[in-house]
Amino acid sequence: MVTEADCIFCKIVRGEIPSKKVYEDKDTLAFLDINPANPGHTLVVPKKHSEDITKSDEEDIAKVMRVVKNITTNLKEKMNAIGVNVMQNNGKPAGQIVAHTHFHVIPRYPNDVVVISYQRVQLSDEQLEEIRKKLSEEKKRSFDFDF
Ligand code: AMP
Ligand code: ZN
Repeated sequence: MVTEADCIFCKIVRGEIPSKKVYEDKDTLAFLDINPANPGHTLVVPKKHSEDITKSDEEDIAKVMRVVKNITTNLKEKMNAIGVNVMQNNGKPAGQIVAHTHFHVIPRYPNDVVVISYQRVQLSDEQLEEIRKKLSEEKKRSFDFDF
């Protein structure tokens, strides 16, 4: 487990290592990815350390998403992005390398070489329904409302 003391993004938040900041407030920091998929690739993080989104504070994520939205708009308006991917990896199997919750905001340009790919699987209506039930039961346990 990575502690706050050792965490590279916590070090960036504390100013112990340099970063190219594009936005900062009390709770949220956004900075350029050091090894970008495209120019303008930005990482948005809650300042409070959490290993991944499941361990994060809901309020912090809500604040982060506000910044993600604004950066997405800025990438289109100021960097002429023709599209933007928002990505968020949780756990090594999902490609997470840095164990501090973060969102990737990746601008897309004509003829770029960014590949975000997955193969689709076919599920029957019964299988979809079984999954839907499981997930809606989870939600009922954590929230007081249905949706
Ligand atoms: P992930 O695979 O989702 O954990 O992505 C981690 C991202 O952090 C990668 O895209 C790295 O290029 C980026 N990264 C790692 N160290 C730094 C750093 N010191 N400053 C900016 N970005 C970084
Ligand atoms: Zn951290």
